[in-house]
Amino acid sequence: MDKYCVFGNPIKHSRSPFIHQSFAKKTDQTLEYDTYLAEIDGFSKAVYSFIDKGGKGANVTVPFKEEALALSDQLSERAQLAGAVNTLTFKNGKIYGDNTDGEGLVQDLLRHSVGIANSKILLLGAGGAARGVILPILAQNPESITIANRTISKAEKLIEQFNNDKLSACSFEQTIAKEYDVIINATSASLSGNLPAISASIISNSTVCYDMVYGKSMTPFLIWAKNEGADKVIDGLGMLVGQAAESFDIWRGIKPAVEPVLKSLRASLDTE
Ligand code: NDP
Repeated sequence: MDKYCVFGNPIKHSRSPFIHQSFAKKTDQTLEYDTYLAEIDGFSKAVYSFIDKGGKGANVTVPFKEEALALSDQLSERAQLAGAVNTLTFKNGKIYGDNTDGEGLVQDLLRHSVGIANSKILLLGAGGAARGVILPILAQNPESITIANRTISKAEKLIEQFNNDKLSACSFEQTIAKEYDVIINATSASLSGNLPAISASIISNSTVCYDMVYGKSMTPFLIWAKNEGADKVIDGLGMLVGQAAESFDIWRGIKPAVEPVLKSLRASLDTE
């Protein structure tokens, strides 16, 4: 049976096995998908051992996405620009690296009928997740993407790397009142129950707010945005299922439907 896995550390609570096994069932594909706890200094060893056991492909999560990039023999353009790999394919003795996180986000926004084309996007954060979504968002032809980060130098560095005049960098304080159609929180602030220090004046009743973080209850950022009158608030669970659907397509040549798996994943979160 074709074997796939997700590498991470920690990895026990990963939703990826549930998502990929559900995709396989719904598309009549026979495959195995498990979690694989790699030692912090043992990522490449874990990958080669999985390949030796017949592994066909793998997802990669924290903290190994940059190492996965370095390990790949060939990279997609989006992985190269993201500076990180979340999807490995093992074929003909080679390792192919791709990054499906950004496409997962874009597809989730489109699924929620959020217009990206000609929109003014505010991206909060300048870490790996922010970097990974810039190219897929640019591909949808937004009017502009403003990257605001707590440490402004990191946002400025990102702008330099992409060299695209739709991009600009600023601090949280420099964000402009009611300027943005879509605000994407790509910081990890929600994980520690915090809010990025942005002013409520940037929210209007037509603003869509998206948090890449998800959980059983609404994130602090989405609660705040809703209270400030945002038009729509969306968490990152659909992005998670969306990136997995892209990986599944790369490996199996079939694009599974996101909605039914997202629905059962949401239901399982609610009962935890
Ligand atoms: P990184 O560690 O690379 O970057 C963290 C970012 O968050 C930095 O920009 C950092 O700012 C900022 N930050 C952290 N704490 C705060 C705070 N209290 N206030 C303001 N800014 C803060 O993480 P990633 O980019 O890899 O991941 C970011 C988030 O995205 C994570 O929570 C992750 O779970 C989520 N994610 C979700 C996915 C999904 O499928 N839904 C996929 C990928 C990621 P500074 O530079 O100043 O330190």
